[in-house]
Amino acid sequence: MIQERHSLQFSHNLQASAQKNYAPLRVLFELTYDCNFDCIHCYVPKCNRKIKSLTAKEIFLILNQLQELGCFHLGFSGGEIFLRKDILDILWYAKKKGFNIILLTNGSLINRHIAEELRKLTLNKVDITLHSLNRSHFEAISRAKGSYVKVMRAIELLHQRKVPLGIKNCSLALNRDDLQGVKEFAEKLGVVGRIGAGVISSSREDIMQQDTCVSGDRQKPDSRHLFPCRAGTSSMVINPQGQLKLCPNIDYPLIHARKGGVAESWRKLNNVVKKIENEYCVSPQARGRGVALRWCPAKSWVKYGNFTQTPADRRNALEKGTIRNMAGVPV
Ligand code: SF4
Repeated sequence: MIQERHSLQFSHNLQASAQKNYAPLRVLFELTYDCNFDCIHCYVPKCNRKIKSLTAKEIFLILNQLQELGCFHLGFSGGEIFLRKDILDILWYAKKKGFNIILLTNGSLINRHIAEELRKLTLNKVDITLHSLNRSHFEAISRAKGSYVKVMRAIELLHQRKVPLGIKNCSLALNRDDLQGVKEFAEKLGVVGRIGAGVISSSREDIMQQDTCVSGDRQKPDSRHLFPCRAGTSSMVINPQGQLKLCPNIDYPLIHARKGGVAESWRKLNNVVKKIENEYCVSPQARGRGVALRWCPAKSWVKYGNFTQTPADRRNALEKGTIRNMAGVPV
């Protein structure tokens, strides 16, 4: 209990200091858009799958700069990160730099050797997407034959080695009735479960209705910040080409880290957010209950092309208390 309180305090202090100093405390690094699955809800556009990714050497240079800038929480995601032949070199490099590492993977390529390396790496968490415990439902979503068995095997290999695991999925028409089973499975394993958390896909309205963000902090809405995940203030995403952006779900604003280095690009990203927040947070909508009624700015961007709009039906539901806001707190 005392330890838990200390660690909460530590993380709170870290967050406060990062925000004060505009340090990119939390970075999600997308290492490739290539993937061996073809999930029906994937937000990576098909045309991006074969885009040339940064080399390991270029990634190391960015990691050096992130460390200097004060990044601590580092997530690696894709596409599917284990399609990269150099993934273990990248992970070991990041580990030696002292980052607190989370991996987001579909798990299907994790074999005995990789599981053993992940154990030695003492990662914060390996997050695996488990759509369903029903094989045919799972593969109807992943659209990859044989994927269910491979993913279940990866979970087993990592669990046997006590690698900290997370299990997550999205609520879709195909697995809606299976979510409780996945939740119970995660509980039985004693692993962190984020079941039914959505990702944004501009082509799928039902996913847009999800309230939780896969990458951001679930912080209370705050009138000074439009982005509850602190995108551009203390968190950011780097895409496989080395461009900085606000959120994995939107390709905006895309500032290249190669030009002027990461520090310069991060400053530009800060300025983009400050400009949006300055324009919005002084408005009457942003005060009082208006803050709690806000929608995720990235979803607003996907749906309306601006960061500040909340659909009327959602505002009504929030007011009535039939749904919770994006930080999961009652209005
Ligand atoms: S595993 Fe992830 S990146 Fe790959 S297709 Fe599915 S959602 Fe997209």
